[in-house]
Amino acid sequence: MKIELRKVSSTPLDFEVKSDEMTFKGYLQYDADKLILLKAGLNGEIDVNCDICAEEFRLDIDEDLEFFISDGLYEKREESLLDVVESLDSTIDLEAILSSEIELIKSDYHSCENCNKNSTFE
Ligand SMILES: [Zn+2]
Repeated sequence: MKIELRKVSSTPLDFEVKSDEMTFKGYLQYDADKLILLKAGLNGEIDVNCDICAEEFRLDIDEDLEFFISDGLYEKREESLLDVVESLDSTIDLEAILSSEIELIKSDYHSCENCNKNSTFE
């Protein structure tokens, strides 16, 4: 689902994107200075490999995402603490965000229940 940024107004625009295992649901809202707020939840289950025993297991995902999308280049000010993603073609591809978030989660460190149990006995 690709959304043209200029169509996003100060009225929240709801969206919902699904992959096989995950639901990415939230809204886009125009903030100010060509910045669009994306606020959404990421829910589902994905298969990851344990970093200790290499066993595959299911990981429950329940995460909140919140960042800004800039229509064009964003000039970051020193004092700014905003999390900004730049869009150079004035669109936002929600599927692409979802799949990159999934990749990010998969590349994190994970340990399965068994290994978690063992480590507490050490
Ligand atoms: Zn393990």
